Amino acid sequence: MSRKETKAIFPGSFDPFTVGHESIVLRGLSMFDKVVVAVGVNNEKHGYFAVDKRIMLIEKVFEGVENVEVASYEGLTVDYARQIGATHILRGLRTSSDFEFERAIALTNKQISGIDTAFLLTAPEHMHVSSSVIRDIMRYGGDVSAFLPERIRDLVK
Ligand code: ADP
Repeated sequence: MSRKETKAIFPGSFDPFTVGHESIVLRGLSMFDKVVVAVGVNNEKHGYFAVDKRIMLIEKVFEGVENVEVASYEGLTVDYARQIGATHILRGLRTSSDFEFERAIALTNKQISGIDTAFLLTAPEHMHVSSSVIRDIMRYGGDVSAFLPERIRDLVK
């Protein structure tokens, strides 16, 4: 029996994309045939990095890596997921508060679309890594290179 191709959408703000995000995508590739990293755009909220820049950075991280695509979307994640034929939503979990929040969203998404969310626990070494802390450090001119995937360390200034 042939199995349907699996495609996970990994949605997020990725402002900026971190080593924690990179690890979730790479581990996701061992579970899904394809992973689409999808930058959610909220026109009412200005990010630190422009969406185009976030996309460019993520594309750099996965240059030459087969089965990873990068995209952006507006609106509901499940609508976009359906539009691109995603079979699953992929999310990462760091803390119990992540879990409480993500569970509500995942159950809601399942109810309105039938799409399941798969969770991967953060690697212990990435538990403290967050885009918002990186943004705070950058605002005051600190060095964030340890939190960024190697390929984009020189591009984020
Ligand atoms: P959002 O605004 O949707 O939370 P983020 O860009 O902050 O977007 O995160 C996207 C996804 O990556 C979320 O599932 C989040 O839990 C996960 N994530 C963020 N940082 C880490 C990390 N250090 N380790 C594992 N997963 C992470």
